[in-house]
Amino acid sequence: MNLEHLNKLKKLLSSPKKIAIIPHKNPDGDAIGSTLALWHYLVNTGHTASIVAPNDYPKFLKWMPGSDKILNFEKENSQSKACINNADIIFTLDFNHLGRVGQMSAVLESATATFVMVDHHQEPSDYAKIMYSDVKMSSTCEMVYVLINQLGDENSITPEIANCIYTGIMTDTGSFKFAATTSNTHRVIADLMDKGAEGTEIHHRIYDTNSPSRLHLLGCALKNMVILEEYSTAYITLSQDELDAYNYQKGDTEGFVNYGLTLDGIKFAVIFIENREEGIYKISFRSVGEFSVNDFARKHFSGGGHTNAAGGKSDDNIEDTITKFISLLPLYKNQLQP
Ligand code: 5GP
Ligand code: MN
Repeated sequence: MNLEHLNKLKKLLSSPKKIAIIPHKNPDGDAIGSTLALWHYLVNTGHTASIVAPNDYPKFLKWMPGSDKILNFEKENSQSKACINNADIIFTLDFNHLGRVGQMSAVLESATATFVMVDHHQEPSDYAKIMYSDVKMSSTCEMVYVLINQLGDENSITPEIANCIYTGIMTDTGSFKFAATTSNTHRVIADLMDKGAEGTEIHHRIYDTNSPSRLHLLGCALKNMVILEEYSTAYITLSQDELDAYNYQKGDTEGFVNYGLTLDGIKFAVIFIENREEGIYKISFRSVGEFSVNDFARKHFSGGGHTNAAGGKSDDNIEDTITKFISLLPLYKNQLQP
């Protein structure tokens, strides 16, 4: 965070405040890890804080310390609204435009609190008075670590905070392998381990607690994969019927899109997942190298994210969605050629 914004934040936090902390809709490991880490830090330093998530999040994150205190805006609506309306400060973490919180955006837009953004996605909007936006960062969790240090409170990183931050860095970097993983990311991880983060245990809890039906759903997804060699592209579709057949639980499709990129020569991997309730296909885009899935998602599928990982959606049926997707690939043939 730059000095001007840091000083504003220091001043704000110099007396006890009522604070709401908000992750994006369908929160992932980085969103939950960063909000929980910040929540522990703020509560431990004398503030009254609550996390309000726009909706539920996967079971494999529910072991995280403090997760039982997270309010679900969909289920605990009036309590969630009261938290946001009464807040002096609202931290928004791991997203950078208010559309990313779904139904909750209207409540945030009318809130009178001072907004603080901490985020590593591209093209931030300007709703926050205090901004810490850095697209080079591996994760919002790494930014929360930096922020606590900048506030001079590195010794306040408890084992709980260390575990939360470790988790988000690990999930957002694909276990420290994606391009945004820097030597500094590893230094942060080393310090977190010194401060009590249990790396092996976290890996186990996130990656080795599959249900049989999730692995069977993965089998179905991999069978559905289509490879377009001409465009170094692999895509997967999953219909609501298939999800239902394998007893889909929230989070079960996490990481499926990455399998496309494990194919030799594939630079662009996509998964289209039906959500019948919302009447959309939720799309995840991944790439290696220069091809920007952020641009692709933003331009064609009402989404965005990072250069190599982005999301979006389609309101069309699957046939039209795939036809549109395939018809776009020739526009990018220079970047996608084998
Ligand atoms: P995922 O594909 O894992 O859901 O998301 C990949 C990245 O893109 C994440 O950083 C996520 O925050 C972002 N993202 C996912 N869906 C959307 C979307 O609909 N809009 C925007 N702007 N970003 C998204
Ligand atoms: Mn993130």
